[in-house]
Amino acid sequence: MTTDPCDGCGREVTIAGGIANLWSFDVETTGGVTLELADGTEHFLCFDCIERLPDDRDVTAADVAALSE
Ligand SMILES: [Zn+2]
Repeated sequence: MTTDPCDGCGREVTIAGGIANLWSFDVETTGGVTLELADGTEHFLCFDCIERLPDDRDVTAADVAALSE
């Protein structure tokens, strides 16, 4: 188990990882995912931030930057 800072809010997010979890991916223990956006950039975001992203259009890095405001 490790943590990574969310690119949106900066919060440390628990992520399931390592060989122990390789075959038992459990969403309950994972607080975020890495998204590839429409502009080709990748961002690690917690689920709270993912819910705040617009779902009616393509998400870009500007939307991720706006999450921290
Ligand atoms: Zn976040």
